[in-house]
Amino acid sequence: MPKQIFLSLLIIFVILSLTSCNLKTKAYESTNFAMGTVITQKIYGKNAPTAAREVIQMISRLERMLSLNLPDSEVNQLNHAAGKNAVALSTETITLLDHAMKISSLSHGAFDITVGPLVKAWQIGTEQPQVPDEVKLTELLKLVDYHSLTIQGKQASLKKPGQVVDLGGIAKGYAGDLAKKIYAKHKVTAALLNLGGNVVTFGSKPDGKPWQIGIQDPRGKKGSYLGIVSLSPGASMVTSGDYERFFERDGVRYHHLLDPKTGRPANSGLISTTIISNSSTDADGLSTATFVLGLKSGRALLSQYQNTEAVFITNDYQIHLTPNLKKVFQFTDESGRYHVQKR
Ligand code: FAD
Ligand code: MG
Repeated sequence: MPKQIFLSLLIIFVILSLTSCNLKTKAYESTNFAMGTVITQKIYGKNAPTAAREVIQMISRLERMLSLNLPDSEVNQLNHAAGKNAVALSTETITLLDHAMKISSLSHGAFDITVGPLVKAWQIGTEQPQVPDEVKLTELLKLVDYHSLTIQGKQASLKKPGQVVDLGGIAKGYAGDLAKKIYAKHKVTAALLNLGGNVVTFGSKPDGKPWQIGIQDPRGKKGSYLGIVSLSPGASMVTSGDYERFFERDGVRYHHLLDPKTGRPANSGLISTTIISNSSTDADGLSTATFVLGLKSGRALLSQYQNTEAVFITNDYQIHLTPNLKKVFQFTDESGRYHVQKR
């Protein structure tokens, strides 16, 4: 082999080896936008770029299947057939509907997968949010009932015309669990995925320390944290709060977490709930459900799930932690507004 070619090959080999070593200790980072939110990934390991790309492809695929904003999504095919016929759905959509139905049932409808007509009427998070009148809300409430969704094999149907399935309270969580499978498939050493506030960890942090994730101060500036949670490898942390999507009219804050009993933004005494679980899907569904239920019933719901912890923040600025969280929660509030409850 001519000396020049040999030297060139040697240089390429050294560069590739260094890149590979580097990716074990230095993170590959990416930022994308999908599902109406910002998605960031920080991945360690030599296959990091491939894994990151595949995760984004998976999220885009889920968005095409599950979005209410895309007329031909599978969820909209189901919604358009409401009161008429059953529709065939992909295995992934059926799996997620099953998950959502379980949380709907265990929360006695505080989480209700058929909340769509209310979400559409309020239009919170859009340019034209509305406060629907009492007559309209009473009409729409007749359409909100998760018992009307039937799943049989790969088919699903909605009983009444006008009913709308909305997976906004759980779909990002499901995407987080699928992302973990992709990280495992590509044998990345560690990863941190932030899907619009839904945090998913994979593996141990390369420096051996736990992943540390901040909890937003619900009444502070974006990025001001009132506490930090140390997460074990593989754990997910998801927060639902009244500060995430809301509008104000005549001095009243109307947020996007709706109570299927009243048709209005939930007024349970909570302003933020954070759930920590190894299942990102459960963490997402339960964050929405417990926010609507309030502290006491929210705790009761969590007791039906194993290894699931929570941070509840009430509207009188009290922070309530589930017992196992006390060891891994660090109170960092600087506003002086909050107080951590001892029990
Ligand atoms: P969470 O607490 O997890 O969920 C709140 C959401 O759950 C509400 O917005 C509502 O959709 C639903 N919900 C409210 N009350 C209940 C209840 N009682 N039971 C069950 N569910 C309830 N946003 C855009 O602006 N543009 C987009 O193009 C867009 N596309 C999206 C596509 C997909 C597939 C998904 C899943 C979401 C999309 N979003 C879009 C919505 C956006 O990302 C939402 O902010 C997000 O779904 C709400 O998540 P959260 O973490 O703020 O709150
Ligand atoms: Mg949620």
